[in-house]
Amino acid sequence: MAAAGEPPGLGAGGLTAEERLLRDTAREFAQREVAPTAIERDEAERFDRSIFTRMGELGLTGAPLPESVGGAGFSYLGWTLVMEELGAADMASAVTLSVHVLSQYPVVTFGTAAQHTDWLAPMVAGEALGAFCLTEPHAGSDAAALRTRAVRLAADGSEIAADAPSTDVASYRLHGSKIWISNAPEADRYLVFATIDAAKGPKGITAFLVEKGTPGFRFGAHERKMGIRACPAAELIFDGADIPAARRLGDEGQGYRIALSALAEGRISIAAACVGIGRSALEQSAAYLQQRTAFGAPLAELQGLRFTIAEMAREVAAARALTHEAARAKDRGEPIGEWSSLAKWTASDAAMRVATDAVQLFGGSGYSRETGIERLMRDAKGAQIYEGTNQVHREIVAREVLARTSI
Ligand SMILES: Cc1cc2nc3c(=O)[nH]c(=O)nc-3n(C[C@H](O)[C@H](O)[C@H](O)COP(=O)(O)OP(=O)(O)OC[C@H]3O[C@@H](n4cnc5c(N)ncnc54)[C@H](O)[C@@H]3O)c2cc1C
Repeated sequence: MAAAGEPPGLGAGGLTAEERLLRDTAREFAQREVAPTAIERDEAERFDRSIFTRMGELGLTGAPLPESVGGAGFSYLGWTLVMEELGAADMASAVTLSVHVLSQYPVVTFGTAAQHTDWLAPMVAGEALGAFCLTEPHAGSDAAALRTRAVRLAADGSEIAADAPSTDVASYRLHGSKIWISNAPEADRYLVFATIDAAKGPKGITAFLVEKGTPGFRFGAHERKMGIRACPAAELIFDGADIPAARRLGDEGQGYRIALSALAEGRISIAAACVGIGRSALEQSAAYLQQRTAFGAPLAELQGLRFTIAEMAREVAAARALTHEAARAKDRGEPIGEWSSLAKWTASDAAMRVATDAVQLFGGSGYSRETGIERLMRDAKGAQIYEGTNQVHREIVAREVLARTSI
């Protein structure tokens, strides 16, 4: 069944029975167990671990991961349906789950068999919450400029030069800090990017699997955010945290590639959650205009406002279509860099415009923190910034287009 904000068929067109079941399960969970507390959790900046635990019980915490690592093996299109439902109910919960999956994907691809078992299994089951740790005080869009250092150590604790073979390395000692890390400090497992040699730029960046409670790893300031306030975010501080070589993900110098490939997947997920924000804004606005009267008639009879509803529907439908196409490209095993940038940029801008329209259509009620309408606008704004700002996505798309255009 289509939701009120979905044109019949568009949301379900071409879905398998399995994908429809996944969407319906996610919709029921999101509307019954997530949406009712969304305004209160946002107001109190309260993270509710029980929601994540329920996601685990429903199999959502590993839904798009392959069965070989304990995941449910759903298509990525199926995953976007889950994210749309969560985004429509509560973007903070959607981001918590999206980041959790973002931190797992690279372990599926680049992890060893032992890492699949001891690192991934509890995360897939929803017993351990993940975080993805790239941004630093001096390195946001320019992530390759990160400064967190990973000093290579031999078994006796002596330092090994950056150009010596990695087979001699027994552990890495992390020094530095990360900011804006979603799910911190609640997360249990952190995918951390650090450099073994800053002079090598992106080629020095290496990925590490770091557990909460590791000596030398602690949390700093809590980010005080405009939106998605029920999804925590905090600073991480590494003050000589020793990470065994077995907890390095992939090879030395592979970290930047690992980060970019994970983000390409994560951006489709965020795009889908933004479609959910837009759908929620549209559905609530369409209902409100029919209930609210002014000048003796329902607002829904005013053509200017009807046109706004139509424009909102157009934005949501176009964002959803592009997001699904990006997910289908991933399911077909095609390159997704450009698709995921197009989808995330389009869907987050659409969510921002549609949520802003919803505030306007609701008038004073839209501006009130009681109704949850202004929350949609605050939540959409963040999605134009994280997982690559929308300016960075313009740059990625332009680079791809120019590269394939011969002169
Ligand atoms: C709510 C939220 C959650 C986040 N969660 C995480 C997380 O879980 N993990 C994590 O690692 N990070 C996270 N981040 C950080 C996020 O990824 C960065 O904020 C983002 O990459 C931008 O970096 P910056 O803030 O340093 O801005 P800057 O890079 O300093 O950019 C400032 C401005 O300059 C523009 N700009 C920069 N470079 C260019 C360019 N080449 N061309 C055109 N314009 C440019 C930007 O678009 C922006 O408008 C989160 C951020 C937010 C807001």
